[in-house]
Amino acid sequence: MTWRAVVLTLFPEMFPGPLGHSLAGKALARGDWALETIDIRDFATDRHRSVDDTPFGGGPGMVMRPDVVDDAVSAALERAPDLPLIVFTPRGRLLTQRRVRALAEGPGAILLCGRYEGIDERVIRHRRMEEISIGDYVLSGGEPAAIVLMDACVRLLPGVMGEAASAAEESFAHGLLEYPQYTRPATWKDMTVPEVLRSGDHAAVAAWRRAQAEADTRDRRPDLWEAYRALAEAAPTA
Ligand code: SAM
Repeated sequence: MTWRAVVLTLFPEMFPGPLGHSLAGKALARGDWALETIDIRDFATDRHRSVDDTPFGGGPGMVMRPDVVDDAVSAALERAPDLPLIVFTPRGRLLTQRRVRALAEGPGAILLCGRYEGIDERVIRHRRMEEISIGDYVLSGGEPAAIVLMDACVRLLPGVMGEAASAAEESFAHGLLEYPQYTRPATWKDMTVPEVLRSGDHAAVAAWRRAQAEADTRDRRPDLWEAYRALAEAAPTA
């Protein structure tokens, strides 16, 4: 079954954007995944086609109306009733490689992109949407977040990445950052690639990479390192 993304947005022309290129673009052209957009503005009911209004309680900016967004969601669910419903918001749970992997293994997703100050809370609750953030910073809209999520999922779909092995080795696959990578020339600006990587000794290469991955995770991401250590202590053979 083709992995499918249905994006609800006020800016459908932003898609496929970067996803029309490189691995994701080729996979899209091959039909390994499908991307549809729904323009939320098509569900506005007044003659100004307005989709937003001022926030109750005051404050700056505008909020996307629940009735308009809900009608757009209904249209998406009519097309794709089996897809999980995701809304992008800085208030959501941080997107992780684990969640990406689970989504990539599923049928796809309906992705709701906010704009302005965000979306009226009631439609998020009413539709029991999964709220996802892509990081602790504020974007001007959910579209870049949707592109990030789709990119991360699509590269994991069968046949999309050149070497299947690379997904198993890369950062976060085992709770660690990936080891550093090198290519030719062996010496560049007085910096020489570690000897072990040129030794042809596969076991030594694997051990070096493992040690680097552990050291870099410990130094750069103490949060990941703690989680990795806790898991290793709970299940020493994992
Ligand atoms: N007023 C909101 C707040 O302070 O939490 C920010 C709204 S933001 C300007 C507009 C839209 O961009 C959001 O509704 C959401 O869809 C998207 N967005 C912004 N930052 C995001 C993030 N870190 N992750 C996912 N989506 C984000």
